[in-house]
Amino acid sequence: MSTNTLNISEIFCSIQGESSFAGWPCTFIRLAGCGHGCRSCDTAYAETGGTRLEQEEIIRRALAFQAPCIEVTGGEPLLQPAVYPLMQQLCDTGQQLLLETGGFLSVARVDRRVHKIIDLKPPSSGVAAQNNPENIQLALQALPADRQRFEFKTVIATREDYEWARSLILEHRLGDSCTVMMGVAFGELEPRELAEWILGDRLRVRMQLQLHKYIWDPRMRGV
Ligand code: SF4
Repeated sequence: MSTNTLNISEIFCSIQGESSFAGWPCTFIRLAGCGHGCRSCDTAYAETGGTRLEQEEIIRRALAFQAPCIEVTGGEPLLQPAVYPLMQQLCDTGQQLLLETGGFLSVARVDRRVHKIIDLKPPSSGVAAQNNPENIQLALQALPADRQRFEFKTVIATREDYEWARSLILEHRLGDSCTVMMGVAFGELEPRELAEWILGDRLRVRMQLQLHKYIWDPRMRGV
């Protein structure tokens, strides 16, 4: 029996709202703790607090929802070293496992079977200088089968954000090798505006909306 414990904010089942898996029922394991202080963080309640749970109990609760995929998220999930054996065991059970990370920490130690959704924080987040460049290099250097499990996500609030993201994507030809999801910050930028910018530049990205915020009240937690 494992004695690995993690600080958990919540475990719940919802519709995956923001990635190439958007629309799938998904069980979320939200780890507590972050501290990066992004402006407009929509899970600020998970930056502190949490309850310590044993790995076996977390897995038992997550599997009970019988969702087609499980996502480990936060807060910043990679801040807790115990997340690595948790992800490994979840992969061993045959689950389709997603990780959503703020992109400040390297994903080098993450089990290669995990589908990694890595934020690229734009200038309006206030923390763009903290994006970890190693994650882009890891994606570009990965073997094709592993590269498919890297996905970058950026949430655009302004034209400056868009130009920042476009320049990063073009510099690394990121859209040619990996999935890049680009969406609007809910209520801050009209989706049509972003769509027109993407089409005007023929940018190789997939546009997305924060699906869960259209289904439920955007301030609601546990969705
Ligand atoms: S990394 Fe995520 S949880 Fe942490 S402050 Fe930024 S948006 Fe919030």
